[in-house]
Amino acid sequence: MKAMNFARFRGLAGTALLLAVLSLTAAPARADWVSADAAIMGTAIHIELWQDSPQQGREAIAAVFDEMHRIDARMSTWKEDSILSDVNRRAATETVELDDEFVELIGRALAMSRMTGGAFDITYASVGRLYDYRAGSKPDDGHREAALDAVDYRYVELDSVARTVHYARQGVHIDLGGIAKGYAVENAAEILRNLGVRHAIVTAGGDSRIVGDRRGRPWTVGIRDPRNPNGLATRVPLQDEAVSTSGDYERFFEADGERFHHIIHPDTGRSADQVRSVTIIGADATETDALSTGVFVLGPQRGLELIEALEDFEAIIVDADGRMHYSSGLMPAQAAR
Ligand code: AMP
Ligand code: MG
Repeated sequence: MKAMNFARFRGLAGTALLLAVLSLTAAPARADWVSADAAIMGTAIHIELWQDSPQQGREAIAAVFDEMHRIDARMSTWKEDSILSDVNRRAATETVELDDEFVELIGRALAMSRMTGGAFDITYASVGRLYDYRAGSKPDDGHREAALDAVDYRYVELDSVARTVHYARQGVHIDLGGIAKGYAVENAAEILRNLGVRHAIVTAGGDSRIVGDRRGRPWTVGIRDPRNPNGLATRVPLQDEAVSTSGDYERFFEADGERFHHIIHPDTGRSADQVRSVTIIGADATETDALSTGVFVLGPQRGLELIEALEDFEAIIVDADGRMHYSSGLMPAQAAR
């Protein structure tokens, strides 16, 4: 498929954005594309949208950033004062009350665990929290194996009627890092639609949610070459759907010739090593986010089997040797290189 000139488009739109955000009076005076970038939830946020008026563009961008800050403040495990940190401190010793949002999102995470046979598992954090990718440190084998005993999503006893959670054993920690960005861009899309925006893309790290088309043609999302930050493995045209990529290049360090990255195999407590990246396309970003992480753990064969068995999801996998695998629904039209 013909490549769009993204760099030029983003450059121009980026100028418009700065004016729109920083100086209310200098905003574009009519319908136009605007874009905005930010660093929220520990990741790069990018929004592009068609605004019918400058006021609509400003409101829309501010509302999306507010929503992401809200989610981060509640769900970050980096923030000691987040609700999730509080739950993790208490839930192994007491039954903790949750609000509707946590009941729903933890419930969906557990459903994704069942769907992926435990490959996606928010209790990965029981061992995953022992890695520090910035500092380049990892647990020794003894600590890793001890912590692994607390990795199993079935230890998360969620009561969605009483709206409580309890961890069935000591040492259990949950982390929503594999699903919360998708949830955030999904919420962002709903906010944009409610504000009357009909053409937009919202990206948080590897997760994007697309609203409508790009005014008469599809949006094009580039899938990164996992071993070349400036190269693309492929591009996919999309409209009104979600796309999530999980990659071993997002957070990692190398030691003893091995790559230690942020997607943890719940069976071993080590980085999953059968693939370099997994891209999932589907209707809902919360699901594509969790599935991209889960399929990453499952590897190319079992991962593609799962995707083929599910309705309405497609996958592009770059395996450990750099080979590309596509689910049947993508071949050949959408997966043109
Ligand atoms: P993503 O980039 O969407 O694949 O998300 C990666 C993030 O998911 C990591 O930074 C962790 O916070 C979390 N994570 C890592 N391993 C798992 C796993 N096996 N199941 C669920 N979440 C995980
Ligand atoms: Mg994911």
